Amino acid sequence: MYMRKTKIVCTLGPASIDVKVIRDLIKNGMDVARLNFSHGSYDDHHTVAQNVRQEAYKLGKNIAILQDLQGIKIRLSNVQKGEIELKTGAKIRLKPGSSDSTIDCLYISYPPLIKDLKKGDLVLIDDGLIKLQVVSKDDNQLFAEIIEGGLVKSKKGVNLPTAKTTIKAFTDKDKKDLVFGTKLGVDYLAVSFVRTAEDIAIIKTWAKKQKINLPPIIAKIEKPEALNNLNEILEIVDGIMVARGDLGVEMPTEQVPIIQKMLIEEANKKGKIVITATQMLESMRYHTRPTRAEATDVSNAVLDGTDALMLSAETAAGEFPVEAVRMMDTIIRFTEENLFKRVGSFYQLGRGFPEAIAACAKEAAQDIDAKAIVVFSHSGFTARLLSKLKSSVPIIAFTPDQKVVRSMSLFWGTYGRLLETPDIGILDEVFMKTVEKNLIKEGFIQKGDNIILAASSPFLGKANIIRLHKVL
Ligand code: PGA
Ligand code: MN
Repeated sequence: MYMRKTKIVCTLGPASIDVKVIRDLIKNGMDVARLNFSHGSYDDHHTVAQNVRQEAYKLGKNIAILQDLQGIKIRLSNVQKGEIELKTGAKIRLKPGSSDSTIDCLYISYPPLIKDLKKGDLVLIDDGLIKLQVVSKDDNQLFAEIIEGGLVKSKKGVNLPTAKTTIKAFTDKDKKDLVFGTKLGVDYLAVSFVRTAEDIAIIKTWAKKQKINLPPIIAKIEKPEALNNLNEILEIVDGIMVARGDLGVEMPTEQVPIIQKMLIEEANKKGKIVITATQMLESMRYHTRPTRAEATDVSNAVLDGTDALMLSAETAAGEFPVEAVRMMDTIIRFTEENLFKRVGSFYQLGRGFPEAIAACAKEAAQDIDAKAIVVFSHSGFTARLLSKLKSSVPIIAFTPDQKVVRSMSLFWGTYGRLLETPDIGILDEVFMKTVEKNLIKEGFIQKGDNIILAASSPFLGKANIIRLHKVL
């Protein structure tokens, strides 16, 4: 059976809180479950997390849970009578606060609105459908012109793409949510609206003070400022998300495809994880089949070299969550099986023991037509190096730590498995038999196949051994 390499993240929500839907999502290809803390109560998130853990256990699958922090998501207040019509060319006032918005004045949930915005700055409402431009201000309000008008409803999202926002990215809500997520034992933490490496450093420092052990961090790239600070951000995180939803509002839409390719390439170069997200199969919220453009988008992101693809509303709030993940799985498989040689691999391998071992393992796998690269990894580091080399051979990564096993659900081409490794590991014949048995039982290999093994001795050190092995 072909082992799919690009991983699938499903956002879970009202359409997928049910245990049966979660089971079907897992059966049909979900590798990582995203809990979106912009929506849903703690009770809901708790139920979803429990259902994921329970069904994954029953099905014998390792599913990671990714907690997504809301960050500074700015919204419009409630709108008088539910909706108002903003006329193109008209003037309107803007104030911070939560009073009802009217056609004369909009209230926006961003306290330093007046201080941070100046003449010429843009205010976008409802995914950029409505566009306002600031023309002047006084101590109490901004005066704006409606550049593109339309109907506006309550609580729609607001983006301030041109302003240098001064508010702290890590909000009080995020702090509470993070404490809650830590108690749930989430496997990844995604941070929204990251602008600088400092935005992440603040979270790390805070967590340290609170004695909270942070899971690996994914920075969501959805602001123009983050693109300018990409190198520093990549240094401080484990991965990034190409968050095309907000990115496509804050940046001109025509730039999104090229930014996606650039972000995937840069993350790969530095050995960091990259998730491509939003609207991948958007029309499947209401239909059982995607558009041809969406199928092409999924396939192209695989070829760009993304580690994972994400479903958002399709699985969180759509009518066909299971069909959506099945469709994504099918498109990815077909793409990988037919055009593997075009999958982008940009990793610039560093120098050192594990790097040299990983490079050898990939080379040797090709030379002896190995059916699997097996790695014994403590923290998952060597497994991630191998994953980033994008070998055509599946990587089976054994580790004694269940949390590390789950985190590997997001590693491209990698299958994490739980196993205690003795200190002599792959040089011990009894242990080797156990490993072989495990691999055969799961269908990764058959008798007669060649495999490559990589490990460290002593086990807690850096990878330093490679073994070529024929399974007899
Ligand atoms: P969101 O992030 O779904 O939390 O908004 C992803 C995006 O903006 O694309
Ligand atoms: Mn977003």
